[in-house]
Amino acid sequence: MNTPEVSNLSSLQAPAKASAITLYARAGADFAAKLDATIELLRAAAQDHRGAIVQATSLGAEDMVVTDLIARLHLGIAIGTLETGKLHPETSALIPRIEQRYGLPVEVYRPREEQVLHFVRQNGEDAMYRSLELRKACCGVRKMEPLGRMLEGRTAWVTGLRREQSNNRGAVPFIEGEANGRTKVNPLADWTWNEVWHYIASHDVPFNPLHDEFMPSIGCAPCTRAIAVGEDFRAGRWWWEDEAAKECGLHATKGSDAVPA
Ligand code: SF4
Repeated sequence: MNTPEVSNLSSLQAPAKASAITLYARAGADFAAKLDATIELLRAAAQDHRGAIVQATSLGAEDMVVTDLIARLHLGIAIGTLETGKLHPETSALIPRIEQRYGLPVEVYRPREEQVLHFVRQNGEDAMYRSLELRKACCGVRKMEPLGRMLEGRTAWVTGLRREQSNNRGAVPFIEGEANGRTKVNPLADWTWNEVWHYIASHDVPFNPLHDEFMPSIGCAPCTRAIAVGEDFRAGRWWWEDEAAKECGLHATKGSDAVPA
């Protein structure tokens, strides 16, 4: 498996600075209706799962929109995030920004220290580049296990998944019944990237400054790079892997029953 050096990627990358808002913020004619439907969906989910629903935010642009709606509408949906220990400082800095801006607590779930130490001791800090199995094992320790704790005792969770993000996500439903009985709510399933940025611009939503550096999809620092013009939305995530493998396990759909909204 060839792992490109980050320094070799500079030729692929677009210029260092640009405003994501200027580049992307545009709303289609049906945006107002789409936003109304999103609000209705979130309200219904909050009511159906009162006290047992959490937004699992990656702190990316879509998730910031969802957090803004949760706060603005006083939905009572908890907000949780995974601090993997490998995030960019710009990403981690959003946690206190959300708390200050909205006056809502963010639940932060970190990996178990002993599991991380064991994994790194066995496989090294750069294990994710060596094989798909090791990359998934790293995601297992740093993301899946903490996500399990976030979702414990909860009957529903909210994500920022959109169909446009990748082929793997092309059929994301608004509401998914998972095999474990939990409900996954994807209120932005039919939003476009332009609409996400239109909402951010028109509601002054805080966002990760790395989006201004051509990183539309931001995960852990070692597994995220900027994309070039014409590359797919998620081309900068686990870029050394095949397209079909590019999920960390958080949003696997096997065994789920899709429920159309
Ligand atoms: S995204 Fe990369 S660094 Fe983060 S948990 Fe997965 S493999 Fe590890």
